[in-house]
Amino acid sequence: MAMDASTRTVALYQHNEALRKHVTKVIKTQKISEYYLHTISAESCPSELAANENAFRPLKNHPDFKHSPEEMDGHVVITAETVFYAQGGGQPYDLGVMRTLDSDNAAAFDVLAVSNGPNGQILHFGRFQPESTKIFGEGESVEQVIDGKALFGVYPGFNPGKMSQAMAFYFCFAFKKYADSGICAGARRDLNSRIHTGGHIVGLAVRHLAQSIPGIVELKAQHYPDAAFVEFKGVIDGKHKAAIEDQANRFVQRALPVKVYWWNKQEMEEKCAVVPENVVVIDGELLRAVDIEGAGAYPCGGTHVPDTSLVGKVVLRNISRRRGVSKISYSISEANGEEAPRLSTAVDSKS
Ligand SMILES: [Zn+2]
Repeated sequence: MAMDASTRTVALYQHNEALRKHVTKVIKTQKISEYYLHTISAESCPSELAANENAFRPLKNHPDFKHSPEEMDGHVVITAETVFYAQGGGQPYDLGVMRTLDSDNAAAFDVLAVSNGPNGQILHFGRFQPESTKIFGEGESVEQVIDGKALFGVYPGFNPGKMSQAMAFYFCFAFKKYADSGICAGARRDLNSRIHTGGHIVGLAVRHLAQSIPGIVELKAQHYPDAAFVEFKGVIDGKHKAAIEDQANRFVQRALPVKVYWWNKQEMEEKCAVVPENVVVIDGELLRAVDIEGAGAYPCGGTHVPDTSLVGKVVLRNISRRRGVSKISYSISEANGEEAPRLSTAVDSKS
């Protein structure tokens, strides 16, 4: 039976953040240019069009996709479920591979960008490896692996000189940390999860210091390796920098459990430290929340580490103030104080 082309993709990472490998079914495989022309730009309603354009945002300035969407080579693969994080909520997408299970009829697809597309579908953008004898068929079972093969230099077309700095960083970071232990999957995701949890910790540290820093409300956050920040409504003076950093690292040292919940509107408002203005909570629907036990919860669709000690160390880089909005830039370093590299990302930083 043919699958409904508009079947939503189940974002498995929202339910099991530890999952790095999964077998699922293909809903659709299409050339990126065709998908763009038939699905994205074919929509006439302006608001839909804007939402659909967002689906292509991770491909802007992407080192592997040079052309405009109409001429872009490569494929978009939509699956029933996915372990690949779709860029959003200030967190970058996952990289990895999808491959067929049937070795006589082999196809492998490098996932180079992931976004939220129209109709609740998650879009995996990438290219089939040259050895592939075909592309994925509708309804076919494929195995998804985050990072995986990419880390050991057997990535097709792997050319470190051509990689963006951010990708080089991810590869090197992953290699250094995991090569010896033999654990290869998910290093980029692990880092993104650490930085994301670090962002929640920075926000909650400011909240914890409400007596000395009153009237502050979280607005938005971004958790990119080179450009992580949390933004607040209200003025945070630079003199609080050390106190915020100390409080953040006290949360880290306590190894507080990080838990995911699905709450309704009322629960969100009661249990979250704040429900930021840009978070839409619809009556009767459940929304995902991430609670750092003993520190506080935020509505959040991103991935996190199981407890705060795994973040490493939170480093406050700068506090800037502009028109009543304060922005705290932060990074994370290893627990031993070794600095995590800060390199520019090639991916578009708005989500
Ligand atoms: Zn979050």
